[in-house]
Amino acid sequence: MKYDVVIVGGGTAGCAAAYMLGKYGKKVLIIEKNTFLGGSMTSSLVTPMMKTSENSINNEFLTTFIEKMKKYNSAITYSDGNNGWFNPQIAKIVLDELMKESNVKVFYDSVLDTLDISLRHIKKIYVKSKMLSTPIEAKYFIDATGNCDLGFIANCNFQNKSNENQPTNLRFMMAGVDTRLFADWLLKIDNDRNVTTVAEVDGQVHLSTAYTWDNDKKWALKPYFDRGVKDGIIEDEDRNYFQIFTVPNMPDTIAFNCPRIYFEDNINPLDVNAYSEALIKGRSAILRLSRFCKKYFKGFEKAYISDIADSLGIRTSRRIVGKYVYTINDLKSGKKFDNCALISNYPVDVHSNKKDNSVLEHFMQEYQLPIEALMSADMDNLFVVGRCLSADFYSQGALRIIPSCFSMGVAVAKFLNNIL
Ligand SMILES: Cc1cc2nc3c(=O)[nH]c(=O)nc-3n(C[C@H](O)[C@H](O)[C@H](O)COP(=O)(O)OP(=O)(O)OC[C@H]3O[C@@H](n4cnc5c(N)ncnc54)[C@H](O)[C@@H]3O)c2cc1C
Repeated sequence: MKYDVVIVGGGTAGCAAAYMLGKYGKKVLIIEKNTFLGGSMTSSLVTPMMKTSENSINNEFLTTFIEKMKKYNSAITYSDGNNGWFNPQIAKIVLDELMKESNVKVFYDSVLDTLDISLRHIKKIYVKSKMLSTPIEAKYFIDATGNCDLGFIANCNFQNKSNENQPTNLRFMMAGVDTRLFADWLLKIDNDRNVTTVAEVDGQVHLSTAYTWDNDKKWALKPYFDRGVKDGIIEDEDRNYFQIFTVPNMPDTIAFNCPRIYFEDNINPLDVNAYSEALIKGRSAILRLSRFCKKYFKGFEKAYISDIADSLGIRTSRRIVGKYVYTINDLKSGKKFDNCALISNYPVDVHSNKKDNSVLEHFMQEYQLPIEALMSADMDNLFVVGRCLSADFYSQGALRIIPSCFSMGVAVAKFLNNIL
């Protein structure tokens, strides 16, 4: 089997790269370990997308994806102008359709196994698929695995330090919620609209609200969480991060961006013990949080857990050493680059375990990422897109959002189209 480009990982950034390369007429294969595309967007239930800069570039895949999702009533533009509220189940179908439209071949249930390298070139990869190890050749490879598995197996260099981790989340959904009742109740208790938003979009009630155990905001839900802990319904650490959203075309459903899984010494998501323990801990917290919502929130009386993410939501793990290592100083200074892959103004979003020191550092200005941060320094035919790009810990905290991962995929596809 010989391809122009093989993309390992059919997630957020991988799908964007594959779709564009397919549209350019290249022979493209995606190797995906799940049985569906979308990666964190679908298997970790990460929705909605964060809003990015109005001057963002390489948006072709974002626009195509959202337009198609809207045709199935499964994406909306929220009241703040963010067009990235989407339904993760329908996303699986839409991504299948988009890959078919651009003639991209997908191998599901297939995991990267080993590879052959010669003179700084990956020649062949071997993929475990239905117990067979199949050799696959390509001119170029793109690592879109999130954890940079291809770069790791190719023995590339990484920049991680042991203390550079963020907490993980195991997201879930509850259905059977009377969202109108819940929205009215939220507006009543959060009467200065401090952290709550409610809007009616395309005939569905939409909302978002949040609570963290930090004291930096007037959290309307704080008294309920305090009572929940006092009554023994939830544990203290269940309060570390709570964030919820409605989902387009799921009118009775609330998506939870929590529990945030808390370990005293943080978690290394590449360690099988820590990863497995986090899943177990997360599922047990989901049970407590669901009982808590049913007991204290109006509109949740008949609600039930309808979905638990298949994969843990990992914010950061391996980051490759690329031809350019992007830094927080580049980001803060808004440094300009000739070969710009993306433009964004999303803030640095690094989660910590500590009370009073949780997330988000705001910069109002835009920043640019050079394409060289998506090229391996060690392998001449390897590109890296998504959260495992060549960026330092803090700048990666700003670059990892879904629209930026899409732009990385599109930028690499355009670059490869010019040289293939
Ligand atoms: C808890 C949490 C909340 C977040 N909230 C938001 C948010 O609200 N909005 C937002 O815009 N962003 C959010 N993000 C960030 C964003 O979702 C991710 O950073 C982004 O989706 C990562 O994209 P990716 O392409 O790097 O990886 P992924 O989308 O995870 O794709 C990786 C793909 O590679 C596959 N894969 C992995 N290893 C192999 C292998 N060895 N062989 C074959 N296939 C493999 C996986 O199955 C997966 O499909 C959040 C992230 C987390 C963790």
